[in-house]
Amino acid sequence: MTEFSEWRDAPKADFAVIGDPIHHSLSPSMHMAAYSALALPYRYVAVHVVPGEVGEALEHLRSLGYQGVNVTVPHKAEAMKWAIGTEDRLSGLIGAANTFNLERRTCINTDGPGFLETLGEFVFQDRTALILGAGGSAQAVGSAMSEAGWRLRIFNRTESRAREMAAGLKADVVREPDLRGVELVVNTTSAALKGESLPIDWARASHELVAYDLMYGKEPTPFLAGAASRGLRTIDGLDLLVAQGALAFEWWLGVPAPRSVMREALR
Ligand code: NDP
Repeated sequence: MTEFSEWRDAPKADFAVIGDPIHHSLSPSMHMAAYSALALPYRYVAVHVVPGEVGEALEHLRSLGYQGVNVTVPHKAEAMKWAIGTEDRLSGLIGAANTFNLERRTCINTDGPGFLETLGEFVFQDRTALILGAGGSAQAVGSAMSEAGWRLRIFNRTESRAREMAAGLKADVVREPDLRGVELVVNTTSAALKGESLPIDWARASHELVAYDLMYGKEPTPFLAGAASRGLRTIDGLDLLVAQGALAFEWWLGVPAPRSVMREALR
């Protein structure tokens, strides 16, 4: 459990992650390890903010001298209303940002580019992917993949949301999470949080399929456990946590982030 404070009692610091809940966030340890490795005199803390108070909280942190803030669930859209502008294409496109510069009152979304960065070590032939889910993270990941030339299929419990997302991306909506003809399957749903699993028939996957879950935990998620039981390659959300955090670090500070140190801090 990460130490955190309510936003009205936020301590003196330079950077923060805000969310609701926030006690589980690994971002403070990850960023503090990076500052320590580069001998940077900064402090990064976790701050609890409830929905409806995000703008007020950001203004308060700004008045305390905070330079930057990461925003996590469920505030990525609400926080954007506080910003006066975006400094990337993606956040404006999907209406959600996870990284804010408080002095400039601007924001970017590092989830999408961070996701692409984590695929770097894999080789894909025709780049066809199935995205499970159509929420905020699905849109960030889907938009970044679409711009990078991926052909996308989208499956979501609520089909109308999948249709909305697909329309903006020129993607196909599918009625079942069929793995045939897919090189990468990305689980962006929060089904596992409620102890539910997705109706996936892993026997349909090719041996080359890579299974990616944005969630992470001490144990593999049921989704990744299913993929691993078929001998498929898997990636969990820790890689994305590091990549999106490293891109935020670089945007704020203008120096390369020590990714391996940040990854090590999560063990
Ligand atoms: P949203 O609430 O915006 O979307 C949730 C999605 O999950 C929706 O598509 C929803 O479907 C689906 N869903 C929820 N419950 C079920 C269920 N029981 N069965 C099937 N589908 C379900 O969440 P986000 O997109 O913001 O986040 C999703 C997950 O990704 C979170 O667990 C989050 O922690 C993780 N994440 C991890 C990151 C990282 O750095 N590793 C970065 C960003 C996100 P419906 O439309 O039908 O409700």
